[in-house]
Amino acid sequence: MSRQTLDELKQQIPLLDYLEAHHWRPVRRLSRGRWMGLCPLHDDHQPSFLMDPSKNLFYCYGCGRGGDVIRFAELYHQVKFSQALALLRQWRGWASLLHETASFYRMQLHRHAEAVAYLQQRGLRSPELIEHMRIGYAPGGCLRGWLMQLGYPLPALRQAGLVSAVGYDTYMHRIVFPLEGNLYGRSISTSAPPHRFLPGAKGGLYAWEQVRQYQEVILVEGLFDYAVLWQAGFHNVTCAMGNHLNAYQFGQLCDGTRTVYLAFDTDSNGSGQQAAQRLACRLSEQGLDARRVSLPDGDDPNSFFVQGGDYEQFQCLLEGARG
Ligand SMILES: [Zn+2]
Repeated sequence: MSRQTLDELKQQIPLLDYLEAHHWRPVRRLSRGRWMGLCPLHDDHQPSFLMDPSKNLFYCYGCGRGGDVIRFAELYHQVKFSQALALLRQWRGWASLLHETASFYRMQLHRHAEAVAYLQQRGLRSPELIEHMRIGYAPGGCLRGWLMQLGYPLPALRQAGLVSAVGYDTYMHRIVFPLEGNLYGRSISTSAPPHRFLPGAKGGLYAWEQVRQYQEVILVEGLFDYAVLWQAGFHNVTCAMGNHLNAYQFGQLCDGTRTVYLAFDTDSNGSGQQAAQRLACRLSEQGLDARRVSLPDGDDPNSFFVQGGDYEQFQCLLEGARG
């Protein structure tokens, strides 16, 4: 592989993007735009990993290792140089494919009255919210052609889970929300399974980078809950996409001392409330102030706002939340 090809690959994959996609988080800002964070290459307890976005280089003061994005991939995945290159190329393809797909679905949203009507029905109205969450719509039957026209080969679309084995778009009549490294699709028809993700991890807490600065954070189960709260003015809200947090999401929530309001569903089988209770215990053990929000029976934050709840009423629920 020529020097030029290597340089191109490194240019196309900013080290910071790659680190963040592998759950690295900058902790402390230094001069000249550099960052310190925990080292993903050794068991690090105080930030000793220096990252310089302008040079695309890293160095760890703990384990003494450093280099460019290729070196990082070698060390992180414990593979040889040639395998690291293959992994990076694969990652680059996947990231751009997801980006193109999300952009395509965003273009479709306002071309399909049924999608806009569904959002209205779920209480999602503000254009700022739709822009903020980059909400799109998968009508079905047109993504494959669009992506192939852009030069993505069919096997890549199948591997990503965007196209089924027999060649159909997998997301059909679904509202689509881009996540970190995945896409969540909510069916607007009652005959299909409501929730769908692409194969792979669902990622971290939703919009965590924007939320972690808050001393008080509201955690909800679903993106439609997130949406109505954000729209009502609660910008300190995040979402776990389910009532079970994966280890990474739990770690994010515990990355500082804060109050966490758990606004989970009060569904009839009680699973949301049981999950909230268990999570509150675990968070308290980590020294966080965890409080459970009592929504009216049978409600989730989304239905609460759809049925006319407003900012002040939800604020009252937060104030009444139990520890
Ligand atoms: Zn290290």
